[in-house]
Amino acid sequence: MTADILIHDATVLTVDENNHLYRNGTVVVEGGMIREVRSSKPDDSKSAAKTVIDGRDRLLMPGLINAHAHLELTALTGAFSEMGVGELFTEMTALCEQLGRGEYEYLVKAGCDLAALNFIRGGITTTNAMDARPSRSADAFGEAGLRGFFRPWLSDLFWDIPEDKQFERARSFIEEYHDSYGGRIQATVCPHDDWSCSRHVWERTANLAAEYPDLPVHTHLLELDASNTMARANDAEDSLALLEEVGLLDDRLVAAHFRVADENDIERMAANDAAVAHCPSIFCYWEPDGETEWTPVPELRDAGTTLSLGLDDHYWHDSSDLLGEARQARLAANLSFGTNQFHSMELVRMLTIEGARALGVGDELGSIEPGKRADLVVLDLSDPKFTPKTNVPALVANTATAGDVESTIVDGKLLMHDNEVHSMDSDTVCERAETAVERFGNDIGWELGRGGSVPPSHLRTVRNLPKRGPAHLVARLGLQHIRERL
Ligand SMILES: [Zn+2]
Repeated sequence: MTADILIHDATVLTVDENNHLYRNGTVVVEGGMIREVRSSKPDDSKSAAKTVIDGRDRLLMPGLINAHAHLELTALTGAFSEMGVGELFTEMTALCEQLGRGEYEYLVKAGCDLAALNFIRGGITTTNAMDARPSRSADAFGEAGLRGFFRPWLSDLFWDIPEDKQFERARSFIEEYHDSYGGRIQATVCPHDDWSCSRHVWERTANLAAEYPDLPVHTHLLELDASNTMARANDAEDSLALLEEVGLLDDRLVAAHFRVADENDIERMAANDAAVAHCPSIFCYWEPDGETEWTPVPELRDAGTTLSLGLDDHYWHDSSDLLGEARQARLAANLSFGTNQFHSMELVRMLTIEGARALGVGDELGSIEPGKRADLVVLDLSDPKFTPKTNVPALVANTATAGDVESTIVDGKLLMHDNEVHSMDSDTVCERAETAVERFGNDIGWELGRGGSVPPSHLRTVRNLPKRGPAHLVARLGLQHIRERL
């Protein structure tokens, strides 16, 4: 059988168990799988493979895995950049309620396509996303040839969508989308977080997770100080105790943030093989309180916890560059805990194999080894900024950006080759996003122009805020604070 793709004479960062690096390596792809990984031979350039890629001055590495993301508002990149954190949360809460009710579908559709396009261009081959109405994002990523995990999020204290309706939607999403698009699109079980869900929602979520035992469970955990307060209001000792009581603290759990965690939390995560998705940019940009503790990444690594990286709400910090999260993770950890918190190779592993392990697919994705799915990226190292190519893992973690990705391969298909995206029409995606943003601005009274963003009137936003859910949330947290003071 003729190979589909052969890449030769490349620097190959395999990210296998030994972090093997080929200076002149060849990788052969056939039937969507990696068939061979070896040193290059002189006649590789004359291979009969359908596509032969000359890898000189190129780095071949596993596709990047964005372990925690939201996609629906991608078209609003640039709209939040100068807001205060209170204004941001107010606008987002109002918008999420409206998205949950199916409003602004045109903005969501355009944004999900734009996210898929930018992720292909930045070498992100797998995304783990939670959205209000995720069929748009699942279809956008499925049609673009990408791989992803999707699911509507569940919460009874964040918005007003009736709980029964949320669980009904969640179930029908799993039935319709799990294992679709040739297995590239998978479903997850997705309680939104530990600060806006009642114990009842956690218990119902656990029942749903038990019905679908192969699905990862994706949530925000120990993100805010309110996390443990809400757990105590839910009659548990703390957040992790609540998850343990309902049966969700195990190796299926992918927990975004894990920021306000203490020693005991770290031990319990490690003992239960639960994974963390670390998203440094979102909090470095939007930190509401400079005194709040920072994700204990060194301790999590010492405890052996799988630690992946995510962009989170990339439209809040205006970057869809996952390579940038590796650098940001290093800078934030060094600033909090002192220098040398990471070896560069650890950051490369967090961008790839650890993301795959977090999602339960470490034996299929995340490294370049024969028998794994062919999800690969080619970076152009010919730019002088990479000269003299000393310490390639450091060049990935510190120097490379999304703009250096030249080719992106998923399941053995070239979604982008030589900087040209094949699976989407870039011009159409960008035009639609611009048109959708213009329409949205007119619909909602939000000025979105070249010079910046002026959000809609405060009155209009307040009118669109959910009422019942957040009122219960504030009351519960307030009551718990009073109880603890007495
Ligand atoms: Zn998030």
